[in-house]
Amino acid sequence: MPIHFPLRLVGSRMVAPSVRHLDFVRDDGQPLDFIPGQFIQVHFAYPDGTPTKRSYSLATMHDHALGPGDSVQIAVSFVAGGAATAIFTALEEGQNIEGSGPYGRFCLNNADANRRYLLVGTGTGVTPYRAMLPQLAQVMQQRGVEVLLFFGARTPAELIYGDDFYAFAAAHPNFRFVPCFSRELPAEPHPDVRRGYVQEALAEFAPNGEGDIAYLCGNPNMVDAAFEALKGYGLPVPHIRREKYVSSK
Ligand SMILES: Cc1cc2nc3c(=O)[nH]c(=O)nc-3n(C[C@H](O)[C@H](O)[C@H](O)COP(=O)(O)OP(=O)(O)OC[C@H]3O[C@@H](n4cnc5c(N)ncnc54)[C@H](O)[C@@H]3O)c2cc1C
Repeated sequence: MPIHFPLRLVGSRMVAPSVRHLDFVRDDGQPLDFIPGQFIQVHFAYPDGTPTKRSYSLATMHDHALGPGDSVQIAVSFVAGGAATAIFTALEEGQNIEGSGPYGRFCLNNADANRRYLLVGTGTGVTPYRAMLPQLAQVMQQRGVEVLLFFGARTPAELIYGDDFYAFAAAHPNFRFVPCFSRELPAEPHPDVRRGYVQEALAEFAPNGEGDIAYLCGNPNMVDAAFEALKGYGLPVPHIRREKYVSSK
């Protein structure tokens, strides 16, 4: 059984109409050492007492060269009738939940020698990319790799962490942020904004099997559609890394 630890909520804010950003610290005095792209699990019980768990990608932007930090940030998208949703909606600052981890291998690989990363996410599926920003800054500086981040959302109000990604793009010429809106465009769209689904926006940037490595995260339908599209452009399967947000119900 994995080691469980208490996580105490120290801050939170709504980052979209139905997405809550939650900032925890481990309440046992330990840091949570993680590799950007990994997730934690949250353990709780259904009202009838049956134990269950849910997974959440870590959103924390931390310079891991400085050692492990003590902030554990996640973004939870509220789902109607969801068991974990009920807990995260009601959780107040100072209260604890039980966590474990980190888990997962949806991480940048130091052995990669690609020319470009295509990072694709929908909704809270961009969370791991937020955590990767400090590492991406290093990789871009060290080997001049380009990074394109495609963010799929229905409306501008759902562009979670949009300010972080725009600020990072402004500071890093090799990083381009491409928000794709399926239902409504911003009043004054940035030149890199696109209308439609993320998987449709890929074509303009000519994905290619020679130089690209892709990461796909979030809605399972999007992950499958983008996976097929990228295979069609010639990306080898090991160069298309996937994290599907499926419910563990
Ligand atoms: C590796 C991994 C990482 C994840 N990271 C995140 C993350 O960073 N942020 C995040 O919000 N979620 C993330 N998820 C999904 C998360 O673990 C839960 O599945 C989600 O929060 C719903 O849990 P719930 O208990 O509220 O709903 P449940 O009680 O599991 O489901 C209630 C009902 O809603 C449906 N449902 C479940 N999820 C969705 C959905 N996304 N859209 C529409 N209907 C749905 C179910 O089919 C069910 O009918 C991740 C999943 C995995 C596997």
